[in-house]
Amino acid sequence: EQSRLDKVIALARHRGFVFQAGEIYGGSRSAWDYGPLGTELKENIRRQWWQTFVRGRGDMVGLDSSIVLPKRVWEASGHVATFADKVVESTITHKRYRADHLWEAFVAKRGREPESWDEVPDPDTGQRGNWTEPRSFSGLVKTYLGVVDDESGLYFLRPETAQGIFVNFSNVLTASRRKPPFGVGQVGKAFRNEITPGNFIFRTREFEQMEIEYFTPPAEANEWFEHWVEACWNWFIDLGIDPENMKRFDVPEDDRAHYSAGTIDVEYRFGFPGKEWGELMGVANRTDYDLKSHSEASGQSLTFFDQASGEKYTPYVIEPSFGLTRAMMAFLVDAYREEEVPNAKGGTDTRTVLKLDPRLAPVKVAVLPLSRNERLSPLAREVADTLRSAGWNIDFDDAGAIGRRYRRQDEIGTPYCVTVDFDSLDDNAVTVRDRDTMGQERIGLDALHGYLAERLRG
Ligand code: ATP
Repeated sequence: EQSRLDKVIALARHRGFVFQAGEIYGGSRSAWDYGPLGTELKENIRRQWWQTFVRGRGDMVGLDSSIVLPKRVWEASGHVATFADKVVESTITHKRYRADHLWEAFVAKRGREPESWDEVPDPDTGQRGNWTEPRSFSGLVKTYLGVVDDESGLYFLRPETAQGIFVNFSNVLTASRRKPPFGVGQVGKAFRNEITPGNFIFRTREFEQMEIEYFTPPAEANEWFEHWVEACWNWFIDLGIDPENMKRFDVPEDDRAHYSAGTIDVEYRFGFPGKEWGELMGVANRTDYDLKSHSEASGQSLTFFDQASGEKYTPYVIEPSFGLTRAMMAFLVDAYREEEVPNAKGGTDTRTVLKLDPRLAPVKVAVLPLSRNERLSPLAREVADTLRSAGWNIDFDDAGAIGRRYRRQDEIGTPYCVTVDFDSLDDNAVTVRDRDTMGQERIGLDALHGYLAERLRG
């Protein structure tokens, strides 16, 4: 029996949300490609995030900084020295694993800490492991630029978008005439040399982040920390995630990143085999660690001078850090349903439906002529084109039985299907079917745009 998670992954691959990167060459677990529907879904999540946290607020601005930054940025940030994971290697299979992941899996399964590494089983064989001592392994992805083949051409791909914001602190402050509290939002690719990428798009070596660095007077940091935990939580709930599937986790000091004085992770019930919950996003109090480190290393002051009080200080930073691709996985898992619905023969069928919020749905409306017919097609195509000009992603499908076409749209989460039939030619009206209720309404063509706009909310 396939798990729910397996079914979601199968659907996502089959319907073109996500493809394996380099599939025709055997594929890779490090990265995934986003297909026609995945691109739309990811873009919609990004847009909602930007609207809520950047455009929608008076205390936020946006930035788009480089993936490759001077090497000194990563030395000053502490990443060169400390962005590393402990790795253990099986002396039998020679496979490597992240030590904390194996350790946590043991604790999750057995409800206690292992006495020693001897007790921790090898995931490959299920037998007691034969492990090497845990040793450090850098999580930075390296690249070489320029006409050099030595260390001077060595650069790192950013493992977080955050540092691009810190090194631009003074630029943004001056150019946008801001003063703390204010924040900078950024969306972009990040790269980590993960030892064990896996669980579909949950953990990849190349992924996308949506990050906020919120600069506050030190005395206000705790208050803003609470504010941001709440705001992030609410963003997921507003976009339809079931609160039962989310929880907060106060990360203990030992497990926090080197820069953090406090971290709350929002976890989601992904339902991984052997581990139900996984980190969805995190909010960290980075204090003045980053700005101070960059000030010292660059010799450039990264402080704020408050003219009102005559005080100069280094702001504290509250960082809500979202994984865009990881959020997409959570939205897919949460939206997936299998429902028993009555069929024409008086029995029931199972329909698969993605109950995505209309704002996230990759296809907003599917236009379906009742049958492939030379009288219906021109009107149906005209309806589709008119709706496209409203900025919506519209599907047009005239192949096969109408019931089967509805099911295909349910499966990808299309909120509305518009059916053009022979009556439409006379009454200038169409039938609109609602994905969730499966109810149908007759709507005049002149009222169609308004009807949909009200329900699609953007
Ligand atoms: P983990 O302990 O699971 O490796 P982390 O605590 O190192 O994660 P952060 O550094 O807090 O992760 O990164 C912020 C967010 O970026 C995460 O909450 C997640 O949504 C996303 N993220 C981090 N690493 C990956 C990855 N390898 N693949 C996909 N998304 C990731």
